[in-house]
Amino acid sequence: MKKTNLTCIECPMGCQIEIITEDDGTIISVNGNSCPRGKLYARNEVVCPMRVITSTVKTDCGNMLAVKSDRPIKRASMASAIKKINALTVKLPVNIGDILLADFCDGANLVATDDLR
Ligand code: SF4
Repeated sequence: MKKTNLTCIECPMGCQIEIITEDDGTIISVNGNSCPRGKLYARNEVVCPMRVITSTVKTDCGNMLAVKSDRPIKRASMASAIKKINALTVKLPVNIGDILLADFCDGANLVATDDLR
């Protein structure tokens, strides 16, 4: 058996969660979460950690534009996602929420988090 302790990042409460797994990774128990979101977060952290990616991209006027994925992507996919982001040059103008790269990683879109003219 293996014990993993983590802090839930789903809300500001920051519950301390303990996950007990078998040696093969099978989850035996999840404790310490105050709501179902925390339990799901903890299970995903053990099975397949996911994160929203935030970064910046080049624009055709030379400024950098803040971007993020519109949903979490697998932590294991981060390196390939960063490569795609670094290879991108965006044509202005851009509005907040514009999709800059559709389905760029694990089904997520890359979206602008700022307006830039
Ligand atoms: S378990 Fe629920 S209440 Fe606790 S930090 Fe996570 S989301 Fe917030």
